[in-house]
Amino acid sequence: MALKKVARQMPVFEIDMGGIPVKQALPTQRVEQIDPFLLLHHGKFDPMQDRPARQQGVGPHPHRGFSPVTFVIQGEVHHQDSRGNSQVAKAGDVQWMHAGMGIIHSERPTEASIEAGELQEIIQLWINSPGAKKMLPPDYQHVPREEMPVFASEDGLLASRLIAGEYAGKQGPIRTQSDLLVHWGEGKAGGTIQYTIPEGFNTTLYLVKGRLRVEGTGLVEPETLLLFDQAGDTISLEAKSDAQFLLLSGRPLEEKVVQQGPFVMNSETQIMEAMRDYQMGKMGFLVEEY
Ligand code: MN
Repeated sequence: MALKKVARQMPVFEIDMGGIPVKQALPTQRVEQIDPFLLLHHGKFDPMQDRPARQQGVGPHPHRGFSPVTFVIQGEVHHQDSRGNSQVAKAGDVQWMHAGMGIIHSERPTEASIEAGELQEIIQLWINSPGAKKMLPPDYQHVPREEMPVFASEDGLLASRLIAGEYAGKQGPIRTQSDLLVHWGEGKAGGTIQYTIPEGFNTTLYLVKGRLRVEGTGLVEPETLLLFDQAGDTISLEAKSDAQFLLLSGRPLEEKVVQQGPFVMNSETQIMEAMRDYQMGKMGFLVEEY
């Protein structure tokens, strides 16, 4: 066993998404990606009582070439897409979409959550796909909280739910396009937990809330993304308050990344093709239904 060290602590910074403030942990000016992880946004959206849910959130827009993933921390997210999926995810659930060759989706709060005055808090993560998988048919997956294998810490204070990858003889429910290990951890002050990370994976941890002590590094404040060195195989954490975090690890793709808005490809030519295909309707159409 060798402890992994934290190479970099990256606190979130606020960006403007069409008039709505969102916290961004990745990319930063210095870190373009943590291959295969491209982007991490942390959004907290107050319900607007003066308009219906269908006029809130994010309206129809396309994606190609990667997986946009939503972790629902609080509230509800109604996903609709051009492949006919229409589905609500609740707190603790994950919406994992491989956009593949192209899909159009919308992500909005639900009418019930607006009426209840509920805050919508989500983490959105973009995971790149290898070039050979970018043009596969899209694949939408919703995983309710209770369908994720749970690993409890020995002290019983922390629980880690396995979302993707294989861990200690169990398999996460998500179909992935490359080798990943994704855990969603949550628990109480004083809890300690250890993770074993496969060799050669890039590893990052986003602290959603609370404070953690990372053995070998020290205290970490909430809303910080930690980038670990590749060396070592063990991450040891202690919750210093009630805490929630995402452990994100994956085998690097080591391919050229060309991103333009909602498309992530390997070349400028492929980006031009994506724009053309979207305009020609090859990613389908989404007429939202309520
Ligand atoms: Mn999207």
